[in-house]
Amino acid sequence: MSDHYEALGVSRDATDDQIKKAYRKLARELHPDVNDAPEAQERFKTVTHAYEVLSDPDERRKYDMGGQDPFGGMGGFGFGDIFDTFFGGGQARGPRTRSERGQDALIRVDMTLDEVVFGAPKSIEIDTAVLCETCSGSCCRPGTSPSVCDICRGSGSIQRQVRSLLGNVMTSQPCGACSGFGQVIADKCDGCRGQGRVRARRTLDLNIPAGVEDGLRLQLSGQGEVGFAGGPQGDIYVDVAVRAHDIYSRNGDDLHCTLEVPLHDAVLGNRAKIETFDGEVEVQIEAGVQSGDQIHLKNLGVTHLRGSGRGDLFVTIQLVTPKKADQKLKELFRQIADLRKSEEIKLVKHTQGHFSRRKNR
Ligand SMILES: [Zn+2]
Ligand SMILES: [Zn+2]
Repeated sequence: MSDHYEALGVSRDATDDQIKKAYRKLARELHPDVNDAPEAQERFKTVTHAYEVLSDPDERRKYDMGGQDPFGGMGGFGFGDIFDTFFGGGQARGPRTRSERGQDALIRVDMTLDEVVFGAPKSIEIDTAVLCETCSGSCCRPGTSPSVCDICRGSGSIQRQVRSLLGNVMTSQPCGACSGFGQVIADKCDGCRGQGRVRARRTLDLNIPAGVEDGLRLQLSGQGEVGFAGGPQGDIYVDVAVRAHDIYSRNGDDLHCTLEVPLHDAVLGNRAKIETFDGEVEVQIEAGVQSGDQIHLKNLGVTHLRGSGRGDLFVTIQLVTPKKADQKLKELFRQIADLRKSEEIKLVKHTQGHFSRRKNR
């Protein structure tokens, strides 16, 4: 850390008055409002800190004796306090604007799987705020307009002179009469009671694209509520919730279902009609089909999100053994058993996801 006397450009036996003068001169030169060079800001801090130490007789004595710097850099009664004492605290930056951006809203949209496959229009009723038609967001009774605040004369802030150890300085505070707007509205709009917006129920027409996933969040920029005093609209976020389907499950953009096939159809072969999202499709069950075999139907899956093309549909065969067999059926199976004596019950390697991929339409 640089020497505090050097920082202020004074000798070690400078009087309090000389120190005060030196600081005042440097501060006016380096103050961030006047000098926006980054190194000026650094120097301003250094100089302010030096002044904090040397302007306090106790701290100055400790510093002269080579003691610890009690502020450890910045702190003590602080940069901000000194800063405010010199330059008047709250920085007057002109009146603030009345209008504010509307808040964002989150809504949920429920989708069925077939809506996901092709995409779907959705109309959703939302409670929101819309622009007041009476005043178009000005908040004033039609034909009137805001008047300049008498108290602050339109500046939105009140300047006040206060005495401090460094002499008289100006401070600035938001004007209470106009809440800092610089203008007052004497005749408020009846339609919105001076809010510039009114509550309304609005229908939001959405086009949910095909291929959305459960949990996806869509953003509709600038479609939310109108802000105070006709301020810009917030955003709407739409959370997509996809309901589980009774038959079909989804893996990426592929769809899966299981087809239960009785033993005799598996042995003899047959045709079966299955209900897909594209309507009824007839599939061939080959004679000799095994449990776990898949029928692969191309392009009957989910449409790719924001793309063209579709996933596929997989039908997994599951053979169904009769749970209860009557005497006649048991007799028939005994005859089959006699015919197929050479077939054994045997152990084979486990083949997870062993599917013979049959193309079949
Ligand atoms: Zn209005
Ligand atoms: Zn005012």
